[in-house]
Amino acid sequence: MNRHMPKQEYQRTLKSSTRYSGITLHTGVRARITLTPAPENSGITVVRVDLPGAPGVRALATNVVDVERATTIADGAAAVHTVEHVLAALYACEVDNAVIEMDGPEPPIADGSSEPFVNMILKAGTKRQRAKRTVYRVTEPVYIELGPSKLIVLPCTEYRISCTVKYGDSMMDTQYLSLPVNTETFVNEMAKARTFCLYDEIEGLMTKGLIRGGSLDNAVVLRNGAIICKEGLRYADEFVRHKMLDIVGDLSLTGCRFVGEIIAIKPGHPSNVALARKLMEIIGISHAG
Ligand SMILES: [Zn+2]
Repeated sequence: MNRHMPKQEYQRTLKSSTRYSGITLHTGVRARITLTPAPENSGITVVRVDLPGAPGVRALATNVVDVERATTIADGAAAVHTVEHVLAALYACEVDNAVIEMDGPEPPIADGSSEPFVNMILKAGTKRQRAKRTVYRVTEPVYIELGPSKLIVLPCTEYRISCTVKYGDSMMDTQYLSLPVNTETFVNEMAKARTFCLYDEIEGLMTKGLIRGGSLDNAVVLRNGAIICKEGLRYADEFVRHKMLDIVGDLSLTGCRFVGEIIAIKPGHPSNVALARKLMEIIGISHAG
């Protein structure tokens, strides 16, 4: 079996429910997230169990309402933000159908990576369902340019991301990495990469109330080329790996499996979500509900 191909052509869900709790990044409160199995063809839905009637929102690019620093999806009262790290974990672990129960608008930030969510999913295990997957195989180039970001999608025999990042006037070197995206590469090469920010951005983010739960437990800070964090970098090129993780999460918002190469130059949530929307139009999928 070619380990780079999707495990199989059939949809998968979780074998059992799995829970995690911790502090949220933006609001700084304790939150709980529960991943539960869901029927075939239902996709990924986030449910706000703290609200009357427990309203839900499908994790689709068409439901994205904000992309500033994190990806926010909403459908009526069901609004949730910073869902990309858990979505990336679900996609990479081959979960097509699941309900993400949240007791507030934001999941725990954990250590700023996808690893705790991957561990939840691996602990619960996944199982095959009867319906076939919708797989989008890229047949011709697709291109998005938004601000400093450029994303080019090309045909490829596997899902692959080739990413370049460079932070304006920071002293950080350009980082480039190209990897296939599958469970194995995600777990070993991307999942542990943490969120990061530039030191000069912190004051503005604090003033806007965007990082009330931010600390060196869940982010890496860059200042004049120096790294400020508790445990040192997990990979020498941790930043480009986190950007790749974010792409996996944001691109999962098409609602289908992806086979193609994404060449990403300075990607961010706005460009990733714009690409996911464009791909949904090309695929012509209209997800009901
Ligand atoms: Zn991220």
